[in-house]
Amino acid sequence: MSITKKSRLVHPLVSDQFGSTIAPLYRASSFAHDAKSVSDIFSSKKAGFVYTRIGNPTVMMLESQINLLEDGIGTVAFGSGMAAISAVSMLLCSSKKKILASSSIFGGTYSLFTKILSNFGVETLFFDSVDELRRIITDEAAFIFVETIGNPSIKVSNIKELASIKGVLPLVVDSTVTPYIFNGKSYGADIVVYSATKMLSGHGRAIGGAVVDCGSYDWANSRYDAALKSYLNLGQFSFLAALRQLYLADLGGCLSPETAESILTGMETLALRVKESCKNAEFLATILKERGLNVKYPKFSRYSQQIAEQFSGYYGSIFTIDFESAERAFGFIDNLKIPLDMPNLCDTRTMAIHAASTIGAALNDNEKAASGITDGLVRVSVGIEDKYDLKDDFLNAIDAIGGKDK
Ligand code: PLP
Repeated sequence: MSITKKSRLVHPLVSDQFGSTIAPLYRASSFAHDAKSVSDIFSSKKAGFVYTRIGNPTVMMLESQINLLEDGIGTVAFGSGMAAISAVSMLLCSSKKKILASSSIFGGTYSLFTKILSNFGVETLFFDSVDELRRIITDEAAFIFVETIGNPSIKVSNIKELASIKGVLPLVVDSTVTPYIFNGKSYGADIVVYSATKMLSGHGRAIGGAVVDCGSYDWANSRYDAALKSYLNLGQFSFLAALRQLYLADLGGCLSPETAESILTGMETLALRVKESCKNAEFLATILKERGLNVKYPKFSRYSQQIAEQFSGYYGSIFTIDFESAERAFGFIDNLKIPLDMPNLCDTRTMAIHAASTIGAALNDNEKAASGITDGLVRVSVGIEDKYDLKDDFLNAIDAIGGKDK
């Protein structure tokens, strides 16, 4: 009997001389071999490890697990989700200087595109819908960037539709909040990026990121000559090789082996946690909506059927409530007993945060409006606590601020 990919997440392939059932933690910063081997590994003529900033056996086990989840041709882990997104963007923008990005993206990514890459001559054009993308799409762009469920706009990207119009551009999808329930490759994504800090870990003890090459993009075409010039002889692996050798090793945003081991521990329970938090979120969002609150959750979209299909029958574990004023939003958060007010997402613990003064604080008013951040917006990320406890707690907090209408 062959073990399926889903069970392999729980039983990773561990090759260890002592029969360890979990990934051994290789803390070494560098690895010794005979002189010829060190030289061959350095020049990628031979597989192996020489220096942890470039690769490490424990980190490689995490890369294999994430790659398995996505069915990719290879995965490179990074020290954070932002390091992963920065590396992909810089690599692709070394050939072309334009990014086409959804306007519903995480504030850090927005800032990377508009406040950092812009200093290197990169222009980002934002789109709100597939129709708008159709109007601005150009072969001169480096890539298209979207999140599966926009944070904190809760806007869902229709990946199949985006893939059908992307033409020569690689489609980069941030699936941070939807691992396991979404498979980028089967919906036409070329690159999937993750903040492993969130659902992949789930335990709130790690900051990490990853980039998966789904294997669908032909890197050997001339669009990326400048970016991949020394690696084009590697064919379909040229993107991954350039990413690791230059944008991981030389930019330096590597993941520590200790953190990789911690994320691997989280991934063993990924299947259970994702499903449970999505079910809890659906339950809670529905009750709050029935109470007349202004709740945004993918299930309430007019495209809910397509959304459920894209996410294996689920709608994600995050929703927002608009309380119309910062004062009421703060009052609601402070009256909650179970959720923690913290900026993480997709943890085992439920979290609630006032978006405008925290995760969206760096945005100006127009940018906030484009990302769906209003003064009274509270983002809720639902964990795996008892759903009736959550229900009682949320309803009590709403009553404490005078119900839905003040
Ligand atoms: N992508 C999304 C969708 C996020 O929500 C975040 C962080 O909140 C990131 C990327 C950045 O991840 P990290 O905090 O691991 O750098």
